[in-house]
Amino acid sequence: MPPGLLFHGPKCNFLVVLLFHHSQNHYICSLITKKIYEAQHSMIKITFPDASVREYEKGVTGLEIAQSISQRLAQEALAVSVNGETWDLTRPIEEDATVNLLKWEDEEGKHAYWHSSAHLMAEALQELYPGIRFGIGPAIENGFYYDVDPGEGVAIKEGDFPAIEKKMMELIAAREDIKRESISKKDALRMFAARGEHYKVELINELEDGTITTYTQGRFTDLCRGPHLPNTSYIKAVKILTAAGAYWRGDEKRPQLTRLYGITFPKKKMLDEYLAMLEEARKRDHRKIGKELQLFHFSQTVGAGLPLWLPKGTQLRLLLEDFLKKIQREFDYDQVITPHIGLKQLYVTSGHYAKYGKDSFQPMHTPEEGEEFLLKPMNCPHHCEIYKAFPRSYKELPLRLAEFGTVYRYEQSGELHGLTRVRGFTQDDAHIFCTPDQVKEEFLKVMDIIFIIFRALDFENFEAQISLRDPENKEKYIGTDENWEKAERAIVEACKEKGLKAKVVLGEAAFYGPKLDFMVKDAIGRRWQLGTIQVDYNLPDRFELEYTGADNQKHRPVMIHRAPFGSMERFVALLIEHTAGKFPLWLAPTQAVVLPVSEKFNEYAHRVVKELKRFDIRAEVDDRNEKVGRKIRDNELKRIPFLLIVGEKEAENEEVSVRKQGGIDQGSAKLITFAETIAREVDEMMNPSARSN
Ligand SMILES: [Zn+2]
Ligand SMILES: [Zn+2]
Repeated sequence: MPPGLLFHGPKCNFLVVLLFHHSQNHYICSLITKKIYEAQHSMIKITFPDASVREYEKGVTGLEIAQSISQRLAQEALAVSVNGETWDLTRPIEEDATVNLLKWEDEEGKHAYWHSSAHLMAEALQELYPGIRFGIGPAIENGFYYDVDPGEGVAIKEGDFPAIEKKMMELIAAREDIKRESISKKDALRMFAARGEHYKVELINELEDGTITTYTQGRFTDLCRGPHLPNTSYIKAVKILTAAGAYWRGDEKRPQLTRLYGITFPKKKMLDEYLAMLEEARKRDHRKIGKELQLFHFSQTVGAGLPLWLPKGTQLRLLLEDFLKKIQREFDYDQVITPHIGLKQLYVTSGHYAKYGKDSFQPMHTPEEGEEFLLKPMNCPHHCEIYKAFPRSYKELPLRLAEFGTVYRYEQSGELHGLTRVRGFTQDDAHIFCTPDQVKEEFLKVMDIIFIIFRALDFENFEAQISLRDPENKEKYIGTDENWEKAERAIVEACKEKGLKAKVVLGEAAFYGPKLDFMVKDAIGRRWQLGTIQVDYNLPDRFELEYTGADNQKHRPVMIHRAPFGSMERFVALLIEHTAGKFPLWLAPTQAVVLPVSEKFNEYAHRVVKELKRFDIRAEVDDRNEKVGRKIRDNELKRIPFLLIVGEKEAENEEVSVRKQGGIDQGSAKLITFAETIAREVDEMMNPSARSN
């Protein structure tokens, strides 16, 4: 029963409380002592993720709540989610709230940990470099960075990292509390200006008064929204990884700062594992392996970010394309081919010009006055025009148009990275035009295709995420409420039917439709985004797509975009790094190399290759005038699945001496038996329907 009215004198120890008495339907007046009143009203209700509710005293902190549950939880908690907002563990909770204690396993928990580590590194830098000025220092996917201006003539280089790490460890040992404070804009400006922190002053100027907070530990104070760990001792193992140049606010006209990347962990063992993973990642870098295996090449004369696929890389890519094309035929896709350019107006209609136009490749002009073409940034508009080529009936739906379509987008030169960030790439694109009722069935089928691919390429570890509308903000989205609900339900049900545990995230859907994303974990635990299935209500509207329904009325189809590989470039990069260049036999650009032990057997070696080719086995002869030991070593570096050594005995008996990748000697085999075995093995790997159940 809440107090209806109360009044009291400043020195009086009693309160007059007017309460509405429900059962008697009238107000009652009661006189109670202040103490009793406060005791009654100082408790708040805390609701936990499992919907259980506990009462705590007003002002309780996340840390105290954790302690009230278990000592272990108190040790593991890093931050707390209060009504959906991430807070410091030490911040008092004053009202009833829904609370979730966040640990290392929670993105937000890790985020608070790494953000606090960025502050710790900054504090260490401030101790070591007195003239240093700070830019921004956020947590990132793996660790954190801080952009710093070390001052005129001062540089921070790799050789300085150990000293910074040592200082960080000292500050950890000092167990400094990390304290949050609200501060007025005026005070914040005065404080940071006095310290000559002009980068911070610039940031404060853009903030609204009343929303500014600082965090302080030891002698270091940062302008910061938080949240942070309670104290520095939570951080156990630190490593500064690299230093790079970064323009202040990403603007090349502004000063260049030093961006120091670092990472920290709650256990030394975790840091060791991470560093070992990084080392392994360096060895697997697709740019390095791509060069060694002669898969692709970048020529500055052709242009940055425009990959040239070399014969072996093309072989690999075509095998992947053929593999997917074959699956798509089984799933009733129609293959189409569309041009690399289109009239500017096409992309104005689709909305892509508004999205990519200004910051991408500019329109091409022709001798025709006013005629402008654009390199296509997306295949979808072309496929919409294919849909529109004829009047469509519901009987034709779903219509599935697939194309290995090359698109062009201008990435900043600093953003380019091997095959993963390029300016021209080929999507394994398809657009499914269907009725709203067919969405679920189509999702199930696309998921089948994605699972076939994951299985064929040994991506055992993957996660899925369903992105839905923000239910509080429905007007943000295009398309009818009814269709959205239908599609969202369809995606959730499709995942359930496939036994796929997908994380559902509200508010993450694009404005034009909900989607399902897949993330795979590669062999060394890194996550790659792969395979998106996206519902779209926007393009059918913009292109005024229609079909005639069973009711003889015109209806708008739903469009589904999907690309299981994403792009061939990015996918090949992932595949190289996942396999360290040791592709599965069916994908290896060269499956076998024949090594004659001396010149005398070159002729037989070439006969072996000819015979293998009859079985569609991709084979070559290494007839260089080198010792066989050298040939073995060289070809092992090229990660060839089978080395076939031939000498007198083999030539006499129509045999090959088989050495499998990894130096495994399999002894001699009849040539014909070897060829048949390998051909069968490859065929089994490449036959998706045989494998799909
Ligand atoms: Zn901060
Ligand atoms: Zn599309």
